[in-house]
Amino acid sequence: MKETVGVLALQGDFQEHLDILAKLGVPAIQVRLPRDLERVGRLIIPGGESTTIGKLLVTSKLLQPIRARIKKGTPVWGTCAGGIAMAKRIADPEKGQAHLKVMDITARRNAFGRQLESFEAKIFMPKVDRKPIPVLFIRAPVFESPGKDVEVLARLPDKRIVAAQQGKILVTSFHPELTGATALHQYFLSL
Ligand code: GLN
Repeated sequence: MKETVGVLALQGDFQEHLDILAKLGVPAIQVRLPRDLERVGRLIIPGGESTTIGKLLVTSKLLQPIRARIKKGTPVWGTCAGGIAMAKRIADPEKGQAHLKVMDITARRNAFGRQLESFEAKIFMPKVDRKPIPVLFIRAPVFESPGKDVEVLARLPDKRIVAAQQGKILVTSFHPELTGATALHQYFLSL
């Protein structure tokens, strides 16, 4: 039997991740409650607004259980706001911003400023695919100060980090699920 993938469905673009997983024929469910978490073998935290996702993780009593699952080795992938939620450090958090703090990296929110809020790019990630992957950046973060256990998977031409991995924790600044690309989902499923 194939392992069920959970997509955190409190806020943000969870449906687009579910659509890609359906296209890949992978069983997937929305995770909204602690009991949903018990049914999944891996978890995707989507993009959206990291401050809102943080608040809803607390009110839905998912923050601690998700952190515990990640520490036990459950593979988890955060895209954009989901990646911010994963970082141990946020360079510019909102006051009291709740996050999972499981990956030894710093997230810098809204790193592309106002002129360049959203853009499409092709990112070459040799570990993930032989061809560059089309992705969208939407008010995206970048990642900084990776710890020694963190492997950088992609940088922009200006060297800023936009994808990284620590064990089975994957973070990406961008949204591959919004271009229909499946390579990153396949890579995540292989972890
Ligand atoms: N700017 C958002 C934040 O800081 C993230 C945007 C996104 O997930 N596309 O949470």
